[in-house]
Amino acid sequence: MIDFTLRISVFLFVFTLLLIWQWRCPRASLLQWRQRWRHNIVLLMLGALCVRITQPFLLSMVALFSQSFGLFKNIDLPYWSVILLSILLLDCLIYWQHRLFHGVPFLWRLHRVHHSDPELDVSSAIRFHPIEIVLSLVIKAIAVLLLGIPIEAVLIFDVLLNASAMFNHTNARLPSQIESLVQYLVITPDMHRIHHSRISEETNSNYGFFLSIWDAIFRSKREKALQGDENLNIGFPGTKTYQPDSLKDILIMPFQAFKKSDFKKRSR
Ligand SMILES: [Zn+2]
Repeated sequence: MIDFTLRISVFLFVFTLLLIWQWRCPRASLLQWRQRWRHNIVLLMLGALCVRITQPFLLSMVALFSQSFGLFKNIDLPYWSVILLSILLLDCLIYWQHRLFHGVPFLWRLHRVHHSDPELDVSSAIRFHPIEIVLSLVIKAIAVLLLGIPIEAVLIFDVLLNASAMFNHTNARLPSQIESLVQYLVITPDMHRIHHSRISEETNSNYGFFLSIWDAIFRSKREKALQGDENLNIGFPGTKTYQPDSLKDILIMPFQAFKKSDFKKRSR
């Protein structure tokens, strides 16, 4: 219960701060925020419901096997270093999971819901198809079990990841002097915008959600948009203007095979 209260309090606090930031210094004018917010909030609620249903099962599975199982349970390291290493490993896992969701066609069908947001702001961070949320939860549970990650590290990481994902989707920009410094360590809004480009070359870069070191190490970091930030076309990759019009369009998106003609017919 403390766990849930802590998560929700940090979420609301960070969300409100970022909302004020993008409201006071917007980087782009958001023309469709009403419809997008409606969609994104419903997706958040559906995702939360699915987590509520699957999490107890996954937690009991992890609790059942985690007494002596897992890497960290069997090596003798100071507690603080286990926490630190766990956070690093979980973030690296999220980076590769994200790459996998872009590279494997049936996973991309799920993840493209996140990329179908035609504008970016703090609410885009909660736009995920419920099936992707459940799959991510299962992948994380397996990693926690295999690595023997302490529950405290999972909680710290979840809070960090959540806050950082909201930060890098915010419709605002850091002052340029700070931007290049922050980019060395964490993914900034400037970097993550490039990942939301409609140009596939750009979409397939900057996969990190928290630390930017993985993009640097695994050579997927892109500091500048191909045609400059002002010409960055945000939205569904591979299309010029397509965007889902309704919540139904979004929910059935993973089960749809799009053809080029669909994009023409359905684009605005
Ligand atoms: Zn992505």
